[in-house]
Order: sequence, then C-alpha cells, then structure tokens
Amino acid sequence: MKIHEYQAKEILKKYSIPIQDGVVVDNADAVESAINQVSTTFNASQFVIKAQVHAGGRGKGGGVKFSSSKEKAIENAKNILGMTLITPQTSAEGQLVQKIMVAEALDIAKEYYVAITLDRAKSKNVIMASTEGGMEIEEVAEHSPEKIIRVWVEPAHGLQGFQARYIAFKLGFEGEQFKQFTKLLSNLYKCYINTDASIVEVNPLVITEQGNVVALDAKFNFDDNALYRHPDIVEMRDTNEEDPTEVEASKFNLNYIKLDGNVGCMVNGAGLAMATMDIIKLKGGDPANFLDVGGGANVETVKNGFRIILSDPNVKAVLINIFGGIVRCDRVANGIIQAVKELDLKIPVVVRLEGTNAELAKQLLSESGVAIIPASGLADAAEKVVAAAQGAKN
Ligand code: GDP
Ligand code: MN
Repeated sequence: MKIHEYQAKEILKKYSIPIQDGVVVDNADAVESAINQVSTTFNASQFVIKAQVHAGGRGKGGGVKFSSSKEKAIENAKNILGMTLITPQTSAEGQLVQKIMVAEALDIAKEYYVAITLDRAKSKNVIMASTEGGMEIEEVAEHSPEKIIRVWVEPAHGLQGFQARYIAFKLGFEGEQFKQFTKLLSNLYKCYINTDASIVEVNPLVITEQGNVVALDAKFNFDDNALYRHPDIVEMRDTNEEDPTEVEASKFNLNYIKLDGNVGCMVNGAGLAMATMDIIKLKGGDPANFLDVGGGANVETVKNGFRIILSDPNVKAVLINIFGGIVRCDRVANGIIQAVKELDLKIPVVVRLEGTNAELAKQLLSESGVAIIPASGLADAAEKVVAAAQGAKN
C-alpha cells in the first residue's frame, strides 16, 4: 500500500525526523487560510505548493512549485489543485490532483538521497544513500551507480552505529550535520521496521542554509500482508489514487492486477495465473489482467471475478483456467453459468476445468445452454482464447 507525502511526513514526525512541514488542502476555498496558517505556524514567507498523488517525479511534471510570496502561492495552489499531473511515474493519462500540500519553503544548501528497502537477493535490508539526491536520482542509478552507497543490515543485529557513521562519512557530513544525520538514519531504520514498510525513501534529504538536516520529501510502501498490524496506516489508504477495478477486486479478496492486453484471465492460484499469462503470450495474445480467485473459489467469487474482468472495455475474450484441487470444478461451473446469465455476456469465454469433479463440471456447462468454448489442456485453451480475441477484434 502506498500513501501520500503529507502522510509519510506525519509518520516521520512521530519518529523525531525533521521534515519540511505544511498543511494539506483539498479545495480551492481553503487555500488562502492554509497559506496564512503555514506562514504563522512555521514562520514562513515563502512556500512550496506540492501536488499529493501516489507517484513520484512531481517536480518534473509541474506538480511542485516554489512560491516566493503569498500571492504566488495562492496562484500556484489554484493551478495545481485539480490539474491532471503527468510525471514519468504516472500513466500516460496522468493523475488528477485532489489534494495539495502547502509547505514552508526551505533554503537548500545541498540535496541527498536516502532509502531503505529489502534486498531479496541478500535477504537483508539495504540502506541506499547518495550525495546526488534530487530529481535526477534515476539517472544516477543508471549511469553512475558507484555514486550510490549501499549498506546491508544484519537482521539479527539491526542497524549498527558504525554503519550509520560509515554512511555519514561517505556522504561527507561533518560536525553538527554528522550527528544529526546518524540520529536521523537510526530513527528512519526504526520507523521502516516498526511500520512493516517495504520501502521508505527520502529524496531529497537536504542540508539547509541554516545547517539543519531535513527530510524534504518522503515516500513509503507498506507490505500489504502486514497491514493488519497497523490500523493507523490502513486509515491512510486513499482509494482515489488506485486503479478502480483493483479497488473493487480487493473488496472481494481477489488478487487482481490490470494489464494492457485484451484477453481476460480468471485463474486460481498465483502460479497457475502466471503460467496462464505466459502461455497466452506464447500463443501470440496479450493478457488483460492477472486474476487469482484463490483456493476457495465459490459461485460468488467467480461471479465477482467475472464482473471485474468485464468492466475492462479492452477485454475481447475471457479464459477461465481453474484447477480443482481444494475447489471443486462443479462449483466453479455453477458460478460461470450464473455469471454468464446475469451479466448478459457478449464476448467469447473459453473454459478449461481440470481436477476434482471436472467431468461433472463439463456436463453442467454443456447442459446449461450458455455459450462457452470448452478446452482441454492449457495449450488448447490459450490457442482458442487468443483466436477468439483476435476474431472479436476484426
Ligand atoms: P518529487 O519531484 O515528486 O520527488 O517532489 P519533491 O518533493 O522531491 O520536490 C521536487 C524538488 O523541488 C526538490 O528536489 C527540490 O529541488 C524542490 N523543492 C521542494 N521543496 C523545496 C523547498 O522548500 N525549497 C527549495 N528551494 N526547493 C524545494
Ligand atoms: Mn522527491
């Protein structure tokens, strides 16, 4: 799960990490009072207006605007609020800006980069840091990776003082900033662990002209499987920022990810779902989604899955590929029959059911009178659905 910058900063604050602070606004009428509030609370005469969307690269897309006066800040805020922001990290259509942060502007002396994430290859958390922070960090990672310092943390020991000092030293910190940075890093690591984050990224971390180390931007991703331990973080979920079909699917505990192709897939088990997508590709087609209906698929899950697949207008044919291990194929067949009848299905549906009660399922499907294309085996199913999707397209 992702959150907004302003929410990320609230979390950092709880871990005593100095941040560029501000006030969040979600409608144009509240802009002026927010700017006044930032002006008095943080003693600011200059402001930064920052679009709050679940995508980075906002600066590059015009979603972060330095404003040297209240008047400029009002103007920028009104322009950014409600704009469709396109950045290197949004889709091509962009993201509607429904909230902005009116932040105090800081005088920046230098920008750094700091992030913590799990390095799966090493089974350890890795701290990444660089003196080349700011908007071009992706360039740095690609063209001069040696400028990114990496330190791996032993899970049983946690971040050690010498490791934090090593990073501070490598970044060239001295004196007061050295102390501030090592303290900040140790708090950031605690925060990452305690919140079950899968990534925390501060880019840029800055030294201000006044000599303070401050988090200017913050990004978190949380491990969805650990969210049950963090009701306060779950509260921060903003479904406006997520794909609507994925939001709908999550209500029914379906693992759905929208893709760009035209072959809708309903499969049980993540492994089988991936194999199904691969074989569709192999047969020259393109999957429209990943959908794992789970081991305990019943009539309702199949129906909801169907509805969600069909809500994608790109879908020209559907492949149902269910292996009856725990789930019984006849129950799935009943779900398919009900769904096809209720949803007034107009596109071809290829069905491959194997495993427990597969024969009974085939009988149910053929007796039901619903127009489905039966398939035997994965290759046959993929060929048939790809042909059906292409036929529907022409
Ligand atoms: P991102 O583009 O989505 O990563 O948004 P950031 O919050 O990182 O802001 C982008 C850039 O705007 C930063 O790298 C800074 O250079 C600049 N910026 C943001 N806040 C301030 C500020 O308070 N003062 C100054 N001088 N620049 C700022
Ligand atoms: Mn940033």
